[in-house]
Amino acid sequence: MKTTRRRTSPSRYHLILTSFAPATPRRSLHENMVRFKSLIRRYVSMQRGASQCFEGQCQCGDVRYRLSGVPLTLFACHCTECQRQSSSAFGMALWIADPEVQTLTGELKKWIRHLPSGGDMECSFCATCGTRLFHQIVGQPDRLSLKPGTLCEASLLRPVAHIWTDSMHPWIGLNDGIQYPRNPPSFEACYSLWAEATG
Ligand SMILES: [Zn+2]
Ligand SMILES: [Zn+2]
Repeated sequence: MKTTRRRTSPSRYHLILTSFAPATPRRSLHENMVRFKSLIRRYVSMQRGASQCFEGQCQCGDVRYRLSGVPLTLFACHCTECQRQSSSAFGMALWIADPEVQTLTGELKKWIRHLPSGGDMECSFCATCGTRLFHQIVGQPDRLSLKPGTLCEASLLRPVAHIWTDSMHPWIGLNDGIQYPRNPPSFEACYSLWAEATG
């Protein structure tokens, strides 16, 4: 008996979905579509500079948080402090204006870092596994720096700037984003670039 094999080609939409979010085998196409739409909604609201809701967790999962506020900019910092803090090549910071942090589970611990420029920074981390989650300058409750690697959905976030490239690891090659050898004189360009990238 002659059998013919039907070639089935996945639809373009299906390809977009699967390439956008490398799905686990258990996630159905419908679930992917729901996730895709929710991410697009979030992206569109980012374009408007509106308040957003972010959710994330520490490495061990004890601390789960929900954070609302207006994202201002996202940058990578290559200073030696961030290298030590992240135990890696650089740190990333997503600055949020008017932040409201809600700890859903777990316990946050705080460590105060004295800044060389003066002032103190409150660093929040999971009491169990030590994952750093937030940084906030003491006395500046209207601004918070979120460690974006802890977000549930972090893959869409791309830094618009790299600071402290003077101490950047030599193997890192940068091909986009504004770069500053040390601290930028002002973060205005970082805000504009973020607004441009998301608007
Ligand atoms: Zn933890
Ligand atoms: Zn740094």
